[in-house]
Amino acid sequence: MTQDHAPFRCEDIRVAIESKEVVKGVSLSIKGGEIHALMGPNGSGKSTLVNALMGHPSYTLTSGRIFINGEDVTELPPHERSRRGMFLRAAVKARVKDDPEMKTFRKTLIAEFERLEIDPAFATRYVNDGFSGGEKKRLEILQMAMLKPSIALLDETDSGLDIDALQIVSKGINTVVNETVGVLLVTHYQRILNFVKPDFVHVFMGGRIVRSGGPELAAQLEKEGYERIEKEVSQVAEVA
Ligand code: ADP
Ligand code: MG
Repeated sequence: MTQDHAPFRCEDIRVAIESKEVVKGVSLSIKGGEIHALMGPNGSGKSTLVNALMGHPSYTLTSGRIFINGEDVTELPPHERSRRGMFLRAAVKARVKDDPEMKTFRKTLIAEFERLEIDPAFATRYVNDGFSGGEKKRLEILQMAMLKPSIALLDETDSGLDIDALQIVSKGINTVVNETVGVLLVTHYQRILNFVKPDFVHVFMGGRIVRSGGPELAAQLEKEGYERIEKEVSQVAEVA
């Protein structure tokens, strides 16, 4: 794989759920070292988009191509996308289940817990039991750090986190990003962007990216909410 390929690129992604088009043509390129925030109201199709990018079988692409480090992965199953460096929480499960290489996952995880000086009791509990929502969010980030992805898709990572957990998660994201790793941070809230500084902000409404800009766009959303952009977008749609 040559160096000049972006870790992630997609072109004209359309997704239908039960014959209703929910994602209506999304193109996005994320270079190494870039954090892109995808922000939009609830129900706008953000999760549908990231699930489809990951290859979730319930979300059918009706058009579009997906590239990881320049390789077309559009036809590959989730665990193969994961092996090529795409990270999403659901994909980690797929990878552990389907990939024989990942049988060492638990061992590596415990070693990682030791390195991070996390209580061994906590590590044992992770391997054996379930966790609360906030703990799971932290572990997603830990898993991400271990898997060394090329592109991390993080959906609503800030929801349900108290401020301490939010800071831990944010620090994790900031640690993982480097010149070969890109991040797509999907969120309804502006809050996490106080800790993770996006290079680009995309506003997502009605299944489309309707605005793209820098961090100032997130600041504008915090001040004004989604209403103003919503109104502007619907006016343009009326004229067209
Ligand atoms: P967001 O993540 O932006 O809140 P979603 O992608 O979850 O939005 O949902 C977008 C739309 O698709 C909503 O109208 C939702 O009801 C619908 N939807 C999402 N997932 C499913 C599903 N598995 N089955 C049926 N409808 C779904
Ligand atoms: Mg969602």
